[in-house]
Amino acid sequence: MKQRKRRSLDWLDRGRTALEPLLALAYPRHCPLCGTVLEQSAWKAAVCRSCIPEAERLRHLPPRLPVTEHAFYAVNTCAAAFYYADSVRHAILLCKENGNPWYARELADLMAVLIFGAQPARAPGYRPVYENLSGISLYSAIVPVPPRVKKNRAENMPLLLAQRLGRILHIPVIQPLCLTRQVLPQKSLDQQKRFANVKDAYACRTGVDLSGMRLLLLDDVITTGATISACAKALLEGGAVSVDGVCVAATELMPKSHGAAGTPKESK
Ligand SMILES: [Zn+2]
Repeated sequence: MKQRKRRSLDWLDRGRTALEPLLALAYPRHCPLCGTVLEQSAWKAAVCRSCIPEAERLRHLPPRLPVTEHAFYAVNTCAAAFYYADSVRHAILLCKENGNPWYARELADLMAVLIFGAQPARAPGYRPVYENLSGISLYSAIVPVPPRVKKNRAENMPLLLAQRLGRILHIPVIQPLCLTRQVLPQKSLDQQKRFANVKDAYACRTGVDLSGMRLLLLDDVITTGATISACAKALLEGGAVSVDGVCVAATELMPKSHGAAGTPKESK
């Protein structure tokens, strides 16, 4: 029964993959950094030619986040595709606050390529290709960080990113987490208050059993690490064996070689 369901999902996914280039003709894909329509020569099939230097400058290389810049607990390792600055920051804010959900697709494609080594899409409108050469799946499931307040799907950036990334990496997306109480917006708080604000604020839903699962926890931005750590702790309490974190962009002081003064300390 489970296998039949899996097979029908595979067909659904294949159908969706075939339709994507057609859909891209009707709804051209846009550069998330400046909004222009992407040409065939786009960088990684996701960033326009004039934004390439900016994308390279803001790229988080290597993707793994230094623990010295964040105060993680419960979460194993965290990775980001970019630094949270300038046009990357602008793209994320556009996606989150102005309801431009299609930027999440381009940014998730970049995460797949820059963090997980997927092959870039052959042209805008196609999907990056992740070949699992080892045959061992990276993670049992992807968990998006749940929104602080109820949001519709178009505004729920972690969910949009997780769904796209899951499709590329062939990993299911699950949402076992819920909030146990109200939390304040993290961007209004200093570092110490951020940890207190989200401490024990997340838990697994009743009846959830994550026994033996290796999970990838996804947020749009990682700043102090308070939110991702609080969520990871809840997942471990739900039975997960390990939790890694991933995000589009991390708030850190950029290396001087990247040519920027620094990144604003905001968001979560
Ligand atoms: Zn651009």
